[in-house]
Amino acid sequence: AKEAGKNQYKLFHGEMEKTTQHRLMVQNDLRDAVKAGDIRLYYQPQIDAVSGTVYGCEVLVRWRHKKHGLLAPDVFIPYAEESGLIQLVDYYVLDQACQQARMWIDQGKPLVVSINLSGLHFRDKNILEKLRTALETHQLPPEYLGIELTEAVLIADAEVAMAVVSDIKAMGLKISLDDFGVGYSSLNYLRTLPFDVVKLDKSFIHGILTNPQDQRLTEGIMKLAQGLNLRVVAEGVESQEQMDYLVGIHCRLMQGYFFLPPRTCEDFEYWRAHWQPA
Ligand code: C2E
Ligand code: CA
Ligand code: CA
Ligand code: CA
Repeated sequence: AKEAGKNQYKLFHGEMEKTTQHRLMVQNDLRDAVKAGDIRLYYQPQIDAVSGTVYGCEVLVRWRHKKHGLLAPDVFIPYAEESGLIQLVDYYVLDQACQQARMWIDQGKPLVVSINLSGLHFRDKNILEKLRTALETHQLPPEYLGIELTEAVLIADAEVAMAVVSDIKAMGLKISLDDFGVGYSSLNYLRTLPFDVVKLDKSFIHGILTNPQDQRLTEGIMKLAQGLNLRVVAEGVESQEQMDYLVGIHCRLMQGYFFLPPRTCEDFEYWRAHWQPA
């Protein structure tokens, strides 16, 4: 038992060290990575499964690290948030996304592009000016830019956050409440905030064919959303069966590996050009 305890301690210590090193790596390299263009925008389609059309797309960042390879957001976004570098990342993504959305309009294939904004942006009103500038710079009509935020945003400093959300909505942007159903879900937010879309968390979709509780919850959320005039996007759809089930409960907007995992712009455009609604 003593030995095991010792080993555990060692492991714990090792993990901490790894985390600390990782944090330092992110905080040292991220600024240069943004400058060098190593932060890449990947695109995932959002499908209207009833009409078979592409309803929009979500931008998900990847870091093409010179030494460590392709990094998923989960291994650098949290450290970027800790250090405030998240502003740099999100502003960069915002600018690039607006540029891309504008390009698609110019090519005659417009698409709503949604970006994820860290909760930290909702602590003050700076983000509003950044959004305005990006739209203006790229001459992008606001309805082509979507903002995804999680409800954690609203818990930290509810009053400021709510004011920022309302201002974003007033600018004409689409606002989605991300990861709905996990965490602190307060139905009150749905009532008081001007969301266009609620994104049903992928953990529900995962169990939707087999877990009666996930089924009941998903159906309940669908009914609630309909009553509140909110659109619902189901995340993490990985199979035809999941898609059919969702359509059966009147959820028509969805996103997931079944259609396409997040891809580079080039691959996404190729997919879109060849996408055949079933
Ligand atoms: P999220 O906004 O909830 O994004 C959905 C996640 O689900 C993405 O993970 C996506 O790749 C993944 N996903 C999509 N379809 C499927 C599927 O069918 N099955 C499964 N199992 N997963 C699927 P990803 O790309 O690793 O992003 C993780 C999180 O990082 C995002 O969660 C978002 O909160 C954050 N993030 C990504 N890009 C940005 C960004 O530019 N700024 C900020 N602040 N956060 C970002
Ligand atoms: Ca999202
Ligand atoms: Ca989500
Ligand atoms: Ca998430």
